[in-house]
Amino acid sequence: MRMILFGPPGAGKGTQAARLLERLGVAHLSTGDMLRAAVREGTELGLAADGFMKRGELVPDQLVCDLVVERLAKPDCAKGFMLDGFPRTVPQAEALDRTLERAAITLDLVLVIEVPDDLIVDRITGRRTDPVTGTIYHMTFSPPPPEVADRVVQRSDDTEAACRTRLAKYHAETRPVLPVYEPRGIVKRVDGVGTPDEVTARIMATIGLA
Ligand code: AMP
Repeated sequence: MRMILFGPPGAGKGTQAARLLERLGVAHLSTGDMLRAAVREGTELGLAADGFMKRGELVPDQLVCDLVVERLAKPDCAKGFMLDGFPRTVPQAEALDRTLERAAITLDLVLVIEVPDDLIVDRITGRRTDPVTGTIYHMTFSPPPPEVADRVVQRSDDTEAACRTRLAKYHAETRPVLPVYEPRGIVKRVDGVGTPDEVTARIMATIGLA
């Protein structure tokens, strides 16, 4: 399986990716996770990306594309991969096409998790992550258990201002990526409103893993 997980910020991509990866056993390529690691490690890429990320803006295409091209060349991607948060612009999709074409690889699926804008700000501002396990919680909808509650952290771009910028970028720059894939007949859409379990069940049914 070679797939793209697609959707607005706060659609539940991270939560659903973890569940899907358990079933699919493919490599997980989250550009957000890779960029956050680069920021933590203080690499040149991290220093360049940090300000864009904090403001909720997109990191320049060239930086992100180099990161993905390098990662796709690693041996674990031969068993299949899930791109999560990439491509986010049409030039990124074109760069991905060129890379895959060179390797004679085609994409099998673009899975879109759809959530209306008016639910997204609440979802994002309430989001917290357990730094020990990576589990994602929501302070209202899916609160952490008491033994975890004291250690959860909030992403620095999960503020309301950054969230609104991310949502605007999604509509202006990321949604236009879908028409690149529609003519190939590989785009499948899933309603992302509901509990994480309900959304997982819809995804599994849609991609034939139920
Ligand atoms: P995410 O974890 O996918 O929500 O990504 C967090 C932030 O990382 C985004 O708001 C962007 O600033 C940056 N980012 C992640 N993936 C990309 C991408 N494909 N292109 C540009 N910026 C990205």
